[in-house]
Amino acid sequence: MLKLENIVKIYSTGGETVRALDSMSVAFRENEFVSILGPSGCGKTTLLNIIGGLDRYTEGDLKVSGRSTEKFTDTDWDIYRNTTIGFVFQQYNLIPHQTVLANVELALTLSGVSKSERKRRAVEALEKVGLGDQLKKKPNQLSGGQAQRVAIARSLVNNPKILLADEPTGALDTETGKAVMDILREVAKDRLVIMVTHNPDLANEYSTRIINLLDGRIISDSDPYDGGIPEPENKTKKKKKISMSLFTALSLSLTNLMTKKGRTILTAFAGSIGIIGIALIMSMSNGVQNYIDGVEKDTLSNYPVQITETTMDISAFFKASQDIREGSTKHPDNEDKVYSNPIMFTMLNSMTSEMQSNDMGAFKKYIESDECDIGKYAGDIQYMYSTTLNAYRSDIENGICKVNPSTVFDDMGMMNQVMAESNSMISGMSDANIWNLLNSNEEIVKAQYEVLSGRFPEKADEVVMIVTENNEISDYTLYTLGMLDRSDIPKMMEKLMSGEVVETADSEYSYDDILSLKFRIVADSDYYAEENGVWADKREDEEYMKTLLEDAYEVSVVGIIKTTDKSLSAAQGGGIGYTAELVDYLIDRVNDSEVVALQKNDPDTDVLTGLPFMSEDAKADASASSANAGMDIDYSSLSPEELAALSAQAETLDQTPSGFSKSTYQNNLRLLGCTDRDHPSVINIYPKDFEAKEEIIEIIKKYNQEMSDKGEDDKVINYTDYIGMLISSITTIVNVISYVLIAFVAISLIVSSIMIGIITYISVLERTKEIGILRSIGASKKDISRVFNAETIIIGFVAGLIGIGITLLLLIPINAIIYSLSDIENIAALPTIGGIILVVISVLLTLIAGIIPSRVAANKDPVIALRTE
Ligand code: ADP
Ligand code: MG
Repeated sequence: MLKLENIVKIYSTGGETVRALDSMSVAFRENEFVSILGPSGCGKTTLLNIIGGLDRYTEGDLKVSGRSTEKFTDTDWDIYRNTTIGFVFQQYNLIPHQTVLANVELALTLSGVSKSERKRRAVEALEKVGLGDQLKKKPNQLSGGQAQRVAIARSLVNNPKILLADEPTGALDTETGKAVMDILREVAKDRLVIMVTHNPDLANEYSTRIINLLDGRIISDSDPYDGGIPEPENKTKKKKKISMSLFTALSLSLTNLMTKKGRTILTAFAGSIGIIGIALIMSMSNGVQNYIDGVEKDTLSNYPVQITETTMDISAFFKASQDIREGSTKHPDNEDKVYSNPIMFTMLNSMTSEMQSNDMGAFKKYIESDECDIGKYAGDIQYMYSTTLNAYRSDIENGICKVNPSTVFDDMGMMNQVMAESNSMISGMSDANIWNLLNSNEEIVKAQYEVLSGRFPEKADEVVMIVTENNEISDYTLYTLGMLDRSDIPKMMEKLMSGEVVETADSEYSYDDILSLKFRIVADSDYYAEENGVWADKREDEEYMKTLLEDAYEVSVVGIIKTTDKSLSAAQGGGIGYTAELVDYLIDRVNDSEVVALQKNDPDTDVLTGLPFMSEDAKADASASSANAGMDIDYSSLSPEELAALSAQAETLDQTPSGFSKSTYQNNLRLLGCTDRDHPSVINIYPKDFEAKEEIIEIIKKYNQEMSDKGEDDKVINYTDYIGMLISSITTIVNVISYVLIAFVAISLIVSSIMIGIITYISVLERTKEIGILRSIGASKKDISRVFNAETIIIGFVAGLIGIGITLLLLIPINAIIYSLSDIENIAALPTIGGIILVVISVLLTLIAGIIPSRVAANKDPVIALRTE
């Protein structure tokens, strides 16, 4: 059964060598109860450990069932310990944090027996030793005798062929010792039991064979055995590799961690701090991103994809101006010279070269054609024309009052310029159109505005008053519309200039006041009337204007609507909203007017002056000659008055020789307000929704690709996606900030991982004994490292959960604070996927941190591990 051949075991510690076993040869029968006696230090334990496969012999051979163990691998030894050997120790060596039942089950768990089978066999083994009613107790709740019986039950549960007991009664009183011995005798009936003892009486009473040892040698053997007929090399089925399941490892570690809850929770909490930091940053940036997306969606209807007749590449322009500032060539100080820098013209050059014009006609034709499916994605396509909408108050009894384009800044006089130069806010204000073309898509309009009184305009002669969210109209709008007395403005300006503060009175208007407003619409061509064969601009002629306005097209305010969206231009100060039909009316009116017809009939003559337009050739000649003429004048001899007169003349005449019109055909048509319906000046494409915007941009890109493929590069469209531009830059900033913050916080994650590594290492030290026990019942190195990896996985997982939990709790006050500061509700929100990923990261990091400690644990010598207290 078991045969030792010249086994030598040498321990070498610190240069000193101990021959614990000195060429020992002994064989054991398959079925006997052997007691090994001998003084302390004679090598009894060493012998048992070598037989049990816990320790390796230095020389000789150990044969098990005729099979040499010389070439055993670690795995072979693991299987051997787990299936052939049962160990019983003097100090019981039960795992303190596991129940009696779990301790017994453990050996079966390692050999991969199913749960129900495991339990059945463990209970059976415990019943055999008389402990069937103590299953749920922990080892420290048992008496010594009970604990030793549990240890015997554990050693027997795998039904091993060999039971090794190292002074099993050494720690027990005589009575309990005898009870244990009775069990062992029972056990020895059908297997080999080798027991080490100090007590010769017990040995004599119970065992069938007594071997005395001294200094690593056998000095007597009561029933020697030569091993019988040499057994044939036993090459039967090699048992399959046993391995602890991850679940077993997890439950082992979990119950261990449960015995030190406080420390585990503190560790997990410390580990969670980094996770909290990252989760908070993630929540914030995710929230901000969602908010931005939301704003983008909300504002899409107001910020269309815009295509204008001319566009400028602003970024290229800024690049150019930066180049200018830096200068092209470096000038040294020592040349005693200063140099010119052509800033102005470089700027102007880059400005004009970056100006790109769009072929609006071709593009309009394309989007209106059947091949273009832009209509699927656009809520509305708005065409704007360069025709000016001239509007006046209908009530001209108190004088003529022009309400569009606004003339308020003209009334401000001097101030206008000062402010425009000093402050872009003012220029932004003057940009804000008081008269707004309403979207022709009913849905969009209804989303943008809410009717306070009356209704939305439906026809050309219907307009609405737009008020702000707070039912207000700005004073600028009121002055523009003549609802406040514009003659006050110059007086107030005077006061302002002399340093006084201008008092403003609040005024109110009833809905009826507003709904009774009427305006007269005048086309640019209406200003011209025939006089002595030419068409003169009669804008300044009050009588003419009065009659003009009396017959002019009248529009009435049919409703008061308020903006529901802060981003609308009209939201800042209210205004008038008109329909696309009114624009149609205007275009028709201009095109049908007599003066436009005349001009179009005679493209060579300026109908406004009666003079012929200059041909291109004539122009070139004239500029050449006037340049020569300029050379002849001796400027230094002229008086200041003469100089001023000359420059004024140069300005007005613009080098055009007398007898020719200084205008051009195109310019005249523009003056007359003439526009071609096929050539809008602006195309606004309002996307239906967020996704549609991308589609629209794709369509434009596709169109551009087609055009450049065809070689028609002049038809390529430059578009402006204001909101997209703005938002992509904000998004970039938010992302950059998040990444930087996460990088910082990641450091705390690393620190906490190192800490978890250290704590796992401490745990390894604490569980050294457990490692020895596990190894003695057949756990492999891999199983041991698995136990500690399981421990770090649990800590990492708990840390992740605590981190996410605390983050979610922190988000409540954070959101409350943000809400109180900015009125944005629940902005910070942790994305679910992000949360899951963070928990996974936490687990992975702690797992990595635990790798070294778990290796240390796995490589512990089981014998030394068992000896530790
Ligand atoms: P016992 O008969 O008391 O069980 P042991 O087998 O434990 O004796 O020890 C036999 C001899 O080997 C002793 O001299 C002991 O000091 C030595 N020894 C045992 N284990 C080790 C070890 N791990 N390292 C060094 N010496 C050891
Ligand atoms: Mg001993």
